[in-house]
Amino acid sequence: MLSAQQAEALILDLVQPLHPQRDLEILDLRSAPGRILATPASSVLDFPLWDNSAMDGYAVRYEDVKVCSTEQPAILEIVEEIPAGYQPQKNIQSGQAARILTGSMMPTGADTIVVQEETRRSGRFVTLFSAPKPHAFVRRQAEFYQAGQPLLPAGIRLSAAEIAVLATAQCTQVPVYRRPRIAILSTGSELVLPDQPLQPGQIVDSNQYALAALVASAGAEPICLGIVPDQQESLKAAIAQAISIADVVISSGGVSVGDYDYVDRTLTELRAEIHIRAVAVKPGRPLTVASFKATQSQEPELPHLLSPVLYFGLPGNPVSALVTFWRFVQPALRKLSGLADDWQTPCVEGRSLQDLRSDGKRETYLWGKTHLVQGKYEFSLAGGSQSSGNLINLAQTNSLAVIPIGQTLKTSGEAIQIMLVMP
Ligand code: AMP
Ligand code: MG
Repeated sequence: MLSAQQAEALILDLVQPLHPQRDLEILDLRSAPGRILATPASSVLDFPLWDNSAMDGYAVRYEDVKVCSTEQPAILEIVEEIPAGYQPQKNIQSGQAARILTGSMMPTGADTIVVQEETRRSGRFVTLFSAPKPHAFVRRQAEFYQAGQPLLPAGIRLSAAEIAVLATAQCTQVPVYRRPRIAILSTGSELVLPDQPLQPGQIVDSNQYALAALVASAGAEPICLGIVPDQQESLKAAIAQAISIADVVISSGGVSVGDYDYVDRTLTELRAEIHIRAVAVKPGRPLTVASFKATQSQEPELPHLLSPVLYFGLPGNPVSALVTFWRFVQPALRKLSGLADDWQTPCVEGRSLQDLRSDGKRETYLWGKTHLVQGKYEFSLAGGSQSSGNLINLAQTNSLAVIPIGQTLKTSGEAIQIMLVMP
């Protein structure tokens, strides 16, 4: 059986990222937060655009003030006031200064700012008692960015700081990757929608909701295709529809070895190549990963595919479905979305407050809550059962403690790896 690391590497290898031209859309900057930049950004504007003052004070010529002191103060005539948004009109001559406010344009002739606190003003004159450093508190044109240079690379997620940079560069129409389309379906004749009455033997399809939430928070577009009963023909029709409209299909249930577990058989009938059938992880051992090639199908029941489609058949147990999503699907969606790197779900080193146990045969994930305490990550195991059928205590957790294969115990206080799944 594949190890988690082997499965992850294989899956990432199968993912073809969205195409920077074919899968591009142009968005207004206001709609761009959270999206992935598809084309490198640059600007025709320097930053700062002109020399300006970093402080409230006086713009002076360094030559005039370089030797001043309490005993020998410099007295300069104030020839202009330069508030924000004003273009200076005067050229500062020897013996002159301009009153200037933070961010305002430096007047020509001046090269240094003397901060207000170092001066005394009386009417049209300002007295300086100490020499500033040359060019003090002047932010030079293009000091932080030179027009025409690369500003932001492609493949980054646009958060507040990048949005601010694009706004400053007057890039208001932003080329981003479209959101990947992810079809989600639930398999199981026992499943009903959450708003339907439950008959004996029936349970609510919670996976559809959980997976849609996970897909949306990964920046992709969930397309919920509903519940498919355990009948091969229904499943075949549902998967055929799903692969014809999505970049990735995620189903849950029907991948174990039970009599009604039709997913793998159906994928084979639909000409998918199955790459993974099981991974040595707990929870979540039965995990199917398959791919469909782009094809012009001649057979009526096989859809035409314009681009390849990746298929994840997750186990039906609610906890297993979520854990396998975090461990294997999320990195794939990140790579698919156009992100240039950082695909893996983040892992940190920390310590557990309780002993953690595993059977040692599979990489084991235990759910709980991680806090940062005085700069160190502390993991606290969720109370109650760590059964993959127990969805309830997964709520209000944010992380999975990882016990590697071959280890059966991590005592409290021992260093462990913690996967941060809901930061
Ligand atoms: P399966 O993987 O189909 O054998 O399902 C394993 C367990 O997960 C069974 O107890 C199912 O009833 C349950 N299950 C399957 N699909 C879902 C779902 N969509 N929502 C909640 N539980 C499910
Ligand atoms: Mg089932």
